[in-house]
Amino acid sequence: MKYISTRGQAPALNFEEAMLTGLARDGGLYLPESIPQMSTADIAALDGQSYEEVAFRVMRPFIGDAFTDDEFREIIARAYAGFGHAARAPLVQLDSGHFLLELFHGPTLAFKDFAMQLIGQLFEAALKRNGQRVCIVGATSGDTGSAAIEAFRGLDAVDVFILFPHGRVSEVQRRQMTTPSEDNVHALALDGYFDDCQARVKDMFNDFAFRDAVGLAGVNSINWARVLAQVVYYFTSAVSLGAPHRKVSFTVPTGNYGDIFAGYIAKRMGLPIDRLVVATNQNDILHRCLTGGSYTPDGVIPSISPSMDIQVSSNFERALCYAYGQDGNAVAQLMDELKAGGFTVSQGALQALREAFDSGRCDEDETRATIASAWAASGELLCPHSAIGVKVADETRQPDTPMITLATAHPAKFPAAVEEASGIYPPLPDRMSDLYDRSERVSRVANDLAAIETFIKERTAH
Ligand SMILES: *Cc1c(COP(=O)(O)O)cnc(C)c1O
Repeated sequence: MKYISTRGQAPALNFEEAMLTGLARDGGLYLPESIPQMSTADIAALDGQSYEEVAFRVMRPFIGDAFTDDEFREIIARAYAGFGHAARAPLVQLDSGHFLLELFHGPTLAFKDFAMQLIGQLFEAALKRNGQRVCIVGATSGDTGSAAIEAFRGLDAVDVFILFPHGRVSEVQRRQMTTPSEDNVHALALDGYFDDCQARVKDMFNDFAFRDAVGLAGVNSINWARVLAQVVYYFTSAVSLGAPHRKVSFTVPTGNYGDIFAGYIAKRMGLPIDRLVVATNQNDILHRCLTGGSYTPDGVIPSISPSMDIQVSSNFERALCYAYGQDGNAVAQLMDELKAGGFTVSQGALQALREAFDSGRCDEDETRATIASAWAASGELLCPHSAIGVKVADETRQPDTPMITLATAHPAKFPAAVEEASGIYPPLPDRMSDLYDRSERVSRVANDLAAIETFIKERTAH
């Protein structure tokens, strides 16, 4: 299996190379050159299998000969062993025809653990074999960073530097990043927004001298291996509701478009998904683009769902690439226009996007109201991100097709917002109840590329 860049100018890579590289050298994102198909019989045979077995069968065709079957099974087993629920991604019912896919039973209580725990094990296996050392730099609105630090802490061949927007992540998110004591992991509080963190990470990848000097590797949601890991739970949940013999729909709280794009890949592989619904908070650029075609960032307004406070949605480029018939030049041109302020999707591409995705938005008051009403109606305490999904799902779901809403984080990750909305303070699960007692280690940095690069160089000189 070969991977090609959305912008068409970078060399094609195999799975392992695409995973270790992250961003393509032409600034694009890697996509598989073709999408493996699962037949109706293949999908039906997933029924009753463990999460790990489904993960193996769904991901295997994408990884080529990077790992043997035995190695890959062991990697998957180690990745999910630390989860606090035997089903890994349990499905609970909210209402008739409406289900919640709980993706928050991993070690940092958000769905990011599904991909990051796997990537940690994949990196370790690949680097050990190659005798290589890499430096992982990532930007986070809160959950990616904690998941990455948790997945890579203490590994020998990896240094990790995570940029998060100072003062704009929740205390639980911050503490999950700042309390691990292993000296190969570093939390950097940047003076700015998430989009600034993400832009500086992109700048570092485009600074080839720096990139090669430190052996830069990326694990942000642009990393193909992360998208791939997220394809799995679309299969487990749809099959448990009757797929492939019945269609299901999904609503996905969306920021960087990684999770929803994984659903799109599942559909292209043959999973009978009816609708894929993008749910945004008040930072609704994706909803506006999917309805009107214009993508023009105009500044983030901080919300109670900070992991979705995003205006430059990195994986949207992958969806655009398919909508433009994989025309790399067209994608590159849109991304140039974005740097200059924004772009408008062509009529044909907008039609293709709207055939693939529906969308909706949910403002702050609606988010709080949904947390309260879901608690009252079903005893489910939703985190604000998941509440946005539930609200938009209720507006879009059809009576004859089950809707699965992805619950992207545990309510205890955002306790203040959840308590304000519901009157209930969500406690941390027992296995991490000492989080508030551990001491923190964090470095404050300016939104300045040269300063950040110097900081990293000084700490990766071995
Ligand atoms: C990352 C995140 C999202 C957004 O996911 P994307 O894949 O970036 O669209 C939503 N909710 C939570 C809790 C997250 O951590």
